[in-house]
This record gives sequence, C-alpha cells and structure tokens, in this order.
Amino acid sequence: MRTSQLYLSTLKEAPAEAELISHKLMLRAGIIKRLGSGLYTWMPLGLRILRKVENIVREEMNRSGAQELLMPAVQPAELWQETGRWEVFGPQMLKIKDRHERDFCFGPTHEEVITDIARTELRSYKQLPMNFYQIQTKFRDEIRPRFGVMRAREFMMKDAYSFHANFESLEATYAVMHQTYSAIFSRLGLKFRAVAADTGAIGGSGSHEFHVLADAGEDLLAYCPDSDYAANVELAEALAPDHLRARALEEMHEVATPGKIACEDVAEFLGLPLDKTVKAIAVVNDANVFHLLLLRGDHNLNEVKTNKVEGLATFRFATEAEVEAALGCRPGYIGPVGIPETVRVVADRTVFAMSDFVCGANKPGYHLKGVNFLRDLPDPAVVADIRNVVAGDPSPDGKGKLELCRGIEVGHIFQLRTKYSESMNCLFTDQDGQQKVMEMGCYGIGVSRVVAAAIEQGHDDKGIKFPSALAPFTVCIVPMGYHRSETVRAAADALYLKLVAAGVDVLLDDRNERPGSMFADMELIGIPHRLTIGDKGLAEGMIEYVARSGGDMEKIALDTAVDCVR
Ligand code: ATP
Ligand code: MG
Ligand code: MG
Ligand code: MG
Repeated sequence: MRTSQLYLSTLKEAPAEAELISHKLMLRAGIIKRLGSGLYTWMPLGLRILRKVENIVREEMNRSGAQELLMPAVQPAELWQETGRWEVFGPQMLKIKDRHERDFCFGPTHEEVITDIARTELRSYKQLPMNFYQIQTKFRDEIRPRFGVMRAREFMMKDAYSFHANFESLEATYAVMHQTYSAIFSRLGLKFRAVAADTGAIGGSGSHEFHVLADAGEDLLAYCPDSDYAANVELAEALAPDHLRARALEEMHEVATPGKIACEDVAEFLGLPLDKTVKAIAVVNDANVFHLLLLRGDHNLNEVKTNKVEGLATFRFATEAEVEAALGCRPGYIGPVGIPETVRVVADRTVFAMSDFVCGANKPGYHLKGVNFLRDLPDPAVVADIRNVVAGDPSPDGKGKLELCRGIEVGHIFQLRTKYSESMNCLFTDQDGQQKVMEMGCYGIGVSRVVAAAIEQGHDDKGIKFPSALAPFTVCIVPMGYHRSETVRAAADALYLKLVAAGVDVLLDDRNERPGSMFADMELIGIPHRLTIGDKGLAEGMIEYVARSGGDMEKIALDTAVDCVR
C-alpha cells in the first residue's frame, strides 16, 4: 500500500486522558479513536493490526482441530435464567429489552448460547469431542473502563468451547488448547507466561491464564525459575507456605476495618441493584446454608438483606435479630482486599471469605484469626489477591524461591466440567446407551487487548515497536525526493512492486513530506523494517536499511532489499 491511499492520522501529543503508554501510542498513531467510555473505533491502520492477531489466532485454532462458527452477540435472557447467571453475572452485563419488552443481553461471554447449541446438535458420543470457537465482539460494562482497548467495554474476544464424553477427553483438549495458546503468543512475538489461575465467575475447576509480561500489567504473577511453578498471585498466596499466610493475615486484619468498603465494588460483586448506602457485608453459615448479609446504614445495621448464597438466586430481608442470631454476635467489620469476581464462601459460623472480601464479627474476644481462616479454606483458590508475596519467598512447591513480575491477562483457559451442561441439561448418549452429562471446557483470548499488550511490551520514545507478526506493515520504503527525483521515484516504485510480488506487506511513503516527518510517522506506527532510498546511494546501487527494533543504519545493495526484510 501507498501512504497516499492510506488514512494515516498521527498526533504529536497524546490526549490528556490517556495514562498508559500503549493507550497514548495507540491514539497518537491513529490506531484507535475514542467514541465513548470503553468504546473505540479501530481505524484503518489499527484494523490491519487487529486482523493480523485474529488471523494467527484463527490459523492456530483451526490447526488444533477447533471449528469456527459465529453466534449472535445479542442473547435471550431465558438461557441465562437456566444457569442462574441472569441474576449472578452482575452489572457487567448489558441488559436490553426489545420492542415486546422481552429481556436480552449483549453477550459478555457465550457459555449459555453454545451449550444450547451443543444440547440440540450433539446427541451421541460419536460426535464428541467437539470444540467450537468464534472471534467476536463482547460487551462488558466494566466498572472502570480504562487504558483504551486494554480494559474496554466493547472488545474483541476469541472464545472457544469444547464438549466431551468424559473428563479424560476434556483434559486432552485442555492440554491441546494450552499448547495452542503457547503457539499463538509465540507466533505473535510476545514474551508471555502461562500461570495457574483462579476460576473466577466462570466457575469450574482447573484453569490457566496467559499473561503478556509488562510492568503496566494489572496482575501480579509469582513463579519459580527452578521449577514450573507459576501462578497468579491471587492463587499463589493461597498456596503459600505458613509464614506467608501469617503475613497475609496480618495484612488482611489491617484491611478489615470498617469504613474501607468500596460499596460500588460490593454492589458490582453481588450483581444486586444496591444503592450506595450499603456499608458492610457479612456471610454466615447457618446449618450449612450460607447467608449473605448486606448491612446498611452507618455500621449500625439499620436494615439487613439476607441472600442465600447457594446459587445466589434468591434473597430476602432479614431482621437485625436474625442476623445477630445467625452470627452469634452483632455483625462486625468487613474489608475488601481486591476487586471481587465471584462469591465463594467458606464459613464456620463466624469466619468466612468471599473471594476478595474478608469479614469478621466483633464478638468479644474474637477477631479475625487469620491462620485458621486461611488454613480452613477447603479450596486454596478461594483466597484473594493479598498482594504481599515478595521476591525470594519460598515457592509453594518447595523447589526454589519465588520471583515476581507483572502481567496482562491475554488468554484464559478453563475446565468448566459440568457447570453449564448440568444446569442446561446438555446430555448425550454414551457407548453403553446411557444418557450422560457432557464435560465442558472454555478458552478465551482478548484479541483486541493483545494489541495494547504488545505495545506495552514494545515501544520506545519514538513510538511503537511492533513484532513483525502483528505490525500493520512489515516494511516501509521512505524515498527521499519521490516528487523531485525521477531516479528515486523509479527505484522506489520498482522496489515496492518487487516486495509486493514477494508477498511482503509493504508501505511506500509517497507523501510529499520532509524525510524527518516521514521517519517519525513510520517509527511511531511501529513498522519493523525501513528502507530509505536517495539519489546519492542509488548512484552506487545502494539504499539504507534500519530495523525498528534497534541497531545502526546499514547500507545495503538495492537488489538485496527483499532478503533483508524477510
Ligand atoms: P480481567 O481479569 O482482565 O477482567 P477476565 O478474567 O474478566 O479479564 P475472561 O472472562 O477470562 O476475562 O475473558 C477472556 C479474555 O478476554 C481475557 O483473558 C482478556 O484477555 C479479555 N478481556 C476480558 N475483559 C476485557 C476487557 N474489558 N477489555 C478487553 N479485553 C478483555
Ligand atoms: Mg473481568
Ligand atoms: Mg482475570
Ligand atoms: Mg480471566
């Protein structure tokens, strides 16, 4: 392509609202344009990049044996009611009504829709396993959309869902997906790490996240260079040795004081239409029924809501006396220790944890005894992001010391088991003629987030340094005097055609601009290879080559240029 045919719109300064370097550079390079909070247009230059990511993802998914389909973005509420997630998913879900006042949502994810397809299409073990995927727009009404497309509301995801006759088959496909994700991020030229992860709101057991390593990452990862231990810290903490747990506890205890509750987070977490008067929250285990108590008012329990946590489907108002009776004392404090994702409760009458929340009751003589609290957790993944592992701490597998780094979650794979297939009655007939519930896995990649993550990892003060695989163009030709010198023009055009013929993605900068500003634009938009053509060099059959990744300018023979950029 020629710049005269490409809509290129670069800025010297980034708009003030952008904090993160990738966000600034994406705006400055004209890759994206903001429409509203968490809503971005991919401009022509940007769409080329996004499509490159998509194509690599698609090729590797196809290679793995998965099949592409495309589901509707808008989904009927009834399916979500079957799994209970219509209530549970929370305000991240954009709910909409049609002209008949029927409820729909703009899909934040597609487990329900795909399970509906599987239960009607896949009837026999002979059709299993099956892995379907799509690359599609998702909408999540994030509480704090930020960092451009990194945490957008509308974003592009590759989501795959596999169906199996048994757990062994799920494990096999899960392993294939793990390898496929490694292949995808390797081909994209990114430094990444796969870590054990919490299963979050999607649920189920067995999960890994793929993180692009970057200081700006929102997640903290702990790994052991001497073994293959690697986990998101929210999980690493739960698996940590005793002294770490004790330290975590101290910190939790500090956090768990009144007045530190982020009401919005509580409301978002619960997916309940709460107002901002909620001041505290507690969970009690009453004869193995978990109640979720929302305490309103200024810590004085004016009004209490009780929510049966099992399924989080129903809730009712409880009286103050009921709460006191259930707790065995007056309800006490609570403190959030992270951004909540899901409700998981471990309770022994007064001690409990819910994902990222810790709670306690101010019964005389009782405080939140951390060690017990942590040791009693039946599921180590329950404990949330406590953020106090330090480098050099022993790794939970005892094989070495932990190192820490920050990561951007670009992929997430889950063994869902029968979480959705059971509630949606997704059955098949097995070899023995029996009707059985399908095992299920799901596998996501944040296709649009990958672009931002790549920029976080590759940039300098001149702009973006794209890995070749996702650069909008592999090489640019910058002629010095295209509009002035016949020789330069002829050589540039000939080289351009030669590169096109060789299948190289080339951009010829045919604008009548000063070389300095053409160089600046090509550097800003991150093209990996630059070929500069001028009269002087051409007289000796030479042009100049420079790599965006670094290194000095080299003089090369014009006829070797094609080899140079491959
Ligand atoms: P996060 O922890 O960043 O909120 P998530 O765990 O909620 O992500 P998943 O449900 O695992 O996300 O979705 C699969 C992938 O979709 C994520 O790994 C991430 O790359 C991408 N993704 C999720 N939310 C967003 C968003 N708001 N903007 C861009 N990409 C996103
Ligand atoms: Mg999220
Ligand atoms: Mg996550
Ligand atoms: Mg995730």
